[in-house]
Amino acid sequence: MTDCLFCKIASGEVPSFKIYEDDVVYAFLDINPVNLGHALVIPKKHHKNLYDLPDETLSHMARETKKLAAAIKEAVSADGINIMMNNDPAAGQIIFHAHVHIIPRFEGDGYKHWKGLELSEEKIKKSAEKIQSILS
Ligand code: 5GP
Ligand code: ZN
Repeated sequence: MTDCLFCKIASGEVPSFKIYEDDVVYAFLDINPVNLGHALVIPKKHHKNLYDLPDETLSHMARETKKLAAAIKEAVSADGINIMMNNDPAAGQIIFHAHVHIIPRFEGDGYKHWKGLELSEEKIKKSAEKIQSILS
C-alpha cells in the first residue's frame, strides 16, 4: 500500500495516458500540460526527488528521456523541447515522487520558465567558488 499518486500511476492502480514503460521507468502524459504532448518520466520505484535517485536509475531515466523527447517532438510537430525537473517545494515540486518533465515548445507559445537576474560578476564568481569548494 502506498499513498503516492505516481506509484499508483506506475502500477496501473490510477489510470494515465501511458506513452512508454520498461522495467525501470514509466512515462505518461501530464494531466495539466504546458503544451500538447507534455509528458512525465518517472522511476517505477519510489524515490522522492533528484537527490534520492540511485545513479543507475537516473542514467536510465536520462537515456529514455532523450528517446521520448525525440518521439514527442515528432508526434506534436514541436519547434523545441524543454527538459525540466522540479526538486523541493521552492522549485515547484508538488508530487514527491521523482519525475522529469518533457515539455514540447512552439514558437511564440508564451511559456516563460526563466526570469534572469542581473547579478554582479563578483557575486556570480563567489558562488562558483563556493560550489567548487563544496564539490572538492
Ligand atoms: P511537479 O510540479 O511536482 O514537478 O509536477 C507534477 C506534475 O504532475 C504537474 O505538471 C501535474 O499536472 C501532474 N499531475 C498531477 N496529478 C496528476 C495525475 O493524476 N495524472 C497525471 N497524468 N498528471 C498529474
Ligand atoms: Zn511514489
